[in-house]
Amino acid sequence: MKIAVAGTGYVGLVTGVCLAEHGYNVSCVDIDNEKVELMNSGIAPIYEPGLEELMVSNMEKLFFTTNYYDAYRDADVIFIGVGTPEKLDGSADLNYVYSVALQIAESIEKDCVVVIKSTVPIGTNEKVESIIRKNLKKNVNLSVASNPEFLAQGTAVQDTLYPSRIVIGVEEESTGMILKEVYQNFEAPILITNRRSAEMIKYASNDFLALKISFINEIANLCEIIGADIEDVALGMGYDSRIGSKFLNSGIGYGGSCFPKDTKALHWLANFHDYELKTIKATIDVNENQKLKLIKKSRKYFDSLNGLTVAILGLTFKPGTDDLREAPSLVNVPIMLEDGAKIKAWDSAGVNNFKKVFPDEITYCKTIEDTLTDADICFIFTEWEEVKNFNVLNFSKLMKTPIILDGRNCYNLVSVQKSPILYDSIGRETINNLEFSFI
Ligand code: NAD
Repeated sequence: MKIAVAGTGYVGLVTGVCLAEHGYNVSCVDIDNEKVELMNSGIAPIYEPGLEELMVSNMEKLFFTTNYYDAYRDADVIFIGVGTPEKLDGSADLNYVYSVALQIAESIEKDCVVVIKSTVPIGTNEKVESIIRKNLKKNVNLSVASNPEFLAQGTAVQDTLYPSRIVIGVEEESTGMILKEVYQNFEAPILITNRRSAEMIKYASNDFLALKISFINEIANLCEIIGADIEDVALGMGYDSRIGSKFLNSGIGYGGSCFPKDTKALHWLANFHDYELKTIKATIDVNENQKLKLIKKSRKYFDSLNGLTVAILGLTFKPGTDDLREAPSLVNVPIMLEDGAKIKAWDSAGVNNFKKVFPDEITYCKTIEDTLTDADICFIFTEWEEVKNFNVLNFSKLMKTPIILDGRNCYNLVSVQKSPILYDSIGRETINNLEFSFI
């Protein structure tokens, strides 16, 4: 079976590489020539643990190209994994998906199954099928199937090799059988349903996870007001198997390429059908406010950040990725700069991407120690292992005033109690072991 994948981002490349690992020959297509050149020289254009190694070890089964015609012409199955970013009104921009549909229509010369892996609004599979059919150049049999992707960045390779489930949305049984064959060696429950339900499963799953995060963040905010501890509250909740312990970590809000746009897109879609998804609206609103939580907290300690040296630990939206899309750092840094702060920042993988947005305004440091040296205040935006394993005692040794605002609750309060620092985190007591008081 010959497989092609359109798009070599987090979803497309990981899908292509994992299918090659399962023995398939896979042609991976991208419009970005630079990316294709990098992949052909054995370099993964994105950071994802284990990806580059797996790509290199399967190089003889992988073909990276910008020539879509060569890739799609005789493919049995074509996966679409291109982006579906947010439009200004919150709806999903499907232009990338539609342009792949046209390229497929132009190219295919034999019967094939087109599989939409990108997250697309309910009804998109039908539209893609009609675009392809209207523009077909050759008389071939074609079917379009939905196969949403559930990988998480940071664990994308493992999530794809060992998926929690494989959802296949089809209108004909025979298409379902072909996709079952593709996935025959993956150990995971396979759910076959119709295309609209498959499309909805993806949005409902992501939006539910985002809802869980916003819920625990609101409970954390209330914990701060009434003097409860969110870590204990989440632990106590998580023992209940109906609730589960995952996604109960409070913090400064979710980011990334999926939750923000997928909540907005489903909310938009519901509105378009005259239905208001109130829980999702609340999820979005809570998250927008939560991203500003630390900068608001900083006002308790300083009127403004003007002239202060601000240390930032973590720029990416979560650890294990170099992706900055919708990261809280992107909202906070402009406010700090506007205030007149001098920013020093460290990140384990995201510095190069951050430099594309803020090339000169920030001093980028190679170590956490350098970042903290002489800083007046520290903001933790991402819970990288390096940050979690950093000895809390060193904050006071390196910083001018060791005020730490932790947006990811990296340290347990017992270890902080013994340190001469001010530690203000999310949903927990503020520990102030400094000898002076603030405004
Ligand atoms: P991405 O932006 O990382 O990658 C998209 C790639 O598609 C880019 O490399 C781009 O150059 C390429 N592209 C654009 N037009 C093309 C064309 N005509 N032909 C070939 N390539 C083309 O996107 P992503 O994060 O991988 O997300 C892709 C889709 O998967 C989105 O719908 C997203 O919502 C969904 N998804 C993403 C994740 C995630 O964690 N990133 C998880 C599950 C689902």
